[in-house]
Amino acid sequence: MLQQATPPQGEIYRDSISLIDKGGDRNWVYPKKPKGPLYTGRTWFSIALMVLLFTGPFIKLKGHPLLLLNVLERKFIIFGIPFWPQDLPLFALLMITFVVFIILFTVIFGRVFCGWACPQTIFMEMLFRKIEYLIEGDAKAQKKLDEQDWDTEKIGKKTTKHVLFFLLAVVIANTFLSYLIGVDQVWKLIEEGPMAHLGKFFALIIFSTVFYAVFAKFREIICIVVCPYGRLQGLMLDKNSIVVAYDYVRGEPRGLHKKGREEKLGDCVDCNRCVHVCPTGIDIRNGTQLECINCTACIDECNDVMVKMKQPKGLIRFASSAEITSGIVKRITFRSVAYTGILLILMSTLTYLLTTRKEIDSTVLRTPGMLHQEQGNGMISNMYNFEVVNKTFFNKHIEIKVTKPSTAVLKMVDRNSPQFELNEDELAKGSFFIIIPQTDIKANNIKTDIEIYSNNKLIQTIETNFVGPVK
Ligand code: SF4
Ligand code: SF4
Repeated sequence: MLQQATPPQGEIYRDSISLIDKGGDRNWVYPKKPKGPLYTGRTWFSIALMVLLFTGPFIKLKGHPLLLLNVLERKFIIFGIPFWPQDLPLFALLMITFVVFIILFTVIFGRVFCGWACPQTIFMEMLFRKIEYLIEGDAKAQKKLDEQDWDTEKIGKKTTKHVLFFLLAVVIANTFLSYLIGVDQVWKLIEEGPMAHLGKFFALIIFSTVFYAVFAKFREIICIVVCPYGRLQGLMLDKNSIVVAYDYVRGEPRGLHKKGREEKLGDCVDCNRCVHVCPTGIDIRNGTQLECINCTACIDECNDVMVKMKQPKGLIRFASSAEITSGIVKRITFRSVAYTGILLILMSTLTYLLTTRKEIDSTVLRTPGMLHQEQGNGMISNMYNFEVVNKTFFNKHIEIKVTKPSTAVLKMVDRNSPQFELNEDELAKGSFFIIIPQTDIKANNIKTDIEIYSNNKLIQTIETNFVGPVK
């Protein structure tokens, strides 16, 4: 935790997390329905992200999904670009850039990703929580319902809510499955029924149950205890990170402004509205805490209070701890410029590698463990293994030629011809001999050039060795 003025109740809050009560039981959070301009903005932003997520598997480019992360078959398509296991270094760089982006973004702008873009928060706050408000009412009504005996009203409301929760969890599980195996495969599973794919059906049920449990039961526990990104906040944030922060300089000492009260009070009227609206059940006035997902609900709530009190907004706002302490707003720092520079370098390298990435990738290696073979008629051969990958969504005509030494001849082992058709997104493997007249072999090791043509265009020249008989 980063700051700040000691709250009136002392620092007891540091001894426990908001999830657990004094008796060690779960502290169930009943957040008040949020409202305000930031919440409205977050709602629209979430709608846009959900539209992207749910329609993503259906968006196709030349008959292929825009995004496919099939880890089981090691097939990846990212923004319409197919990646093969041979692209592992590029894929790794993509992942590193993504992680660095997240870290640098967090160091500068705090945990805003969690509150505004993380699927966990979006599903929880924009789908599951809204269903809950619709069926059970606002925070007080929910608490009352939980405390009352199991009568018809409670059974009816709880059953409806949990059935809807599970159905939604099934939709989410199917959506994620579509990103894993492709939407066509998921449709096939649905059409052919569970009995035809029992294994996958059970996997889907397990996924759906996990999603249901996450949103119906675990909720903020995921953000606070399970999520590694959440756990790393303490390492990534410092006093210059911009986070949702309470301006204790302006707000303290807090208290109800009553006529005749002599004590000079700060702007916080201690109404606790910022606490009641918090989905992780914390009091942001205690300072930056692990539990805060930067959802900004407390900013909206406090701004509303400030307007009513005829005080300037922003008692809780996006600000760094240093900014609140010093009162100096400094958005562009050496660190933010340096981090942005690193990020730009990484992204430029990635863009360069992506744009210059080979559409047809090939490897040729002399067959391991084999020396030369004597073919008769004074000819010596070496055997080679080849792999050609078509990373595009178009069929290609491939040709393999040997061009050096000039007297060398290429003879395929398992194909009739060194020219063949390679379908889109396909890998061709095989072996061939390079045969050279013994009279042309003047050394043990002869440099050999093999050329790969795609649609009659030279795309790669591979230098390899030809091993001749020992003299
Ligand atoms: S909403 Fe604002 S005024 Fe009310 S307790 Fe929170 S910080 Fe203080
Ligand atoms: S403290 Fe404010 S920003 Fe943080 S989780 Fe609670 S309501 Fe959201």
